[in-house]
Amino acid sequence: MKALKWYGPYDLRVEESEEPRIVNETDALVRPTLAGICGTDLHIYKGYLQIIPGNIIGHEFVGIVEEVGKGVKEFSKGDKVVVSCWVADGKCWYCKRGYYTQCVNINIFGIGPLYGEALQGAHAELVRVPYADVMLYKIPENIPDEKVVMLSDGLPAGYAGIVEGGIKAGDIVTILGFGPIGAVAGMCAKILGASLIIAIDVIEERLKIARELGFKTLNAKEVDVAEEVRNLTDGRGADLVIEAIGGSEEVLRKAIELARRKGTVSVLGFHVHDYNLPAGQLWISEKRLIFSIGDPIRYRYELLELIKNDRIDISKIITHKVSLNEAPKGFELFDKKVAFKVVIKP
Ligand SMILES: [Zn+2]
Repeated sequence: MKALKWYGPYDLRVEESEEPRIVNETDALVRPTLAGICGTDLHIYKGYLQIIPGNIIGHEFVGIVEEVGKGVKEFSKGDKVVVSCWVADGKCWYCKRGYYTQCVNINIFGIGPLYGEALQGAHAELVRVPYADVMLYKIPENIPDEKVVMLSDGLPAGYAGIVEGGIKAGDIVTILGFGPIGAVAGMCAKILGASLIIAIDVIEERLKIARELGFKTLNAKEVDVAEEVRNLTDGRGADLVIEAIGGSEEVLRKAIELARRKGTVSVLGFHVHDYNLPAGQLWISEKRLIFSIGDPIRYRYELLELIKNDRIDISKIITHKVSLNEAPKGFELFDKKVAFKVVIKP
């Protein structure tokens, strides 16, 4: 089969690869019909997250079940499924309470040995999926792949930031960093009753997409965003701030600054380092700081209903569709922020 492999920073190659096989009886093999390029893939692409050279990358995908192990009860060949990017066994203490992203057997496709076994990724013609009865979710045939592919990762991530941030009807929501996850969070905030959504970024093309979705926009290169957010909130700050940039203490501090007293900062950005946080300021202002990595298993039921009923249409933010052969180009366009959301059709 053909697959997209990582060999080093900015070095992706489409190569022939051995097809995966069923290893455990709870495994399934899934043939991706559409896969997303996610921000986490970009961290690997650029070398921030080191994986094993020659590993297949990608973790956000929808596809068709090709084969199931004899322990798989709920699925069979030919089923259309979305696959949770986070691996969960469905039976540990955390899984039983619905906290799938803290499963004791957590793993993720295509990011190497970070969690033990390096699971091969989804930017390929065939993928081995462990714990198939937990990981797979049936999708009606009539829903286009473009509307459900992000149900695998990006959509529940944005949704988690909003619902776990405790949104209330009428809230003013500020989104710091308007990439695909920020866009999804904004769309979720809208359907969950936000009265105003303020999108902040430095790239005008991204802010244009935010305006098309009906959000107020602020370009952080042009204005003092903290002052502008206060102006839009009678001097208070936002009820809920979504931090969707990650990677630095500076962005966390900015997100905290944008929230009102007793408000919430919901962090979706990717952080790996420890920082000094303004604990005194957080305490005296009673701001809540919460973190979510999204949970495709916990949230897929309600999100699929929202998709079916046209309450949320993620296909609106897909700007580029490429073949597997063109995938390295897709990464380049996403990295250079020419593309907003890129999907690969293997
Ligand atoms: Zn578990």
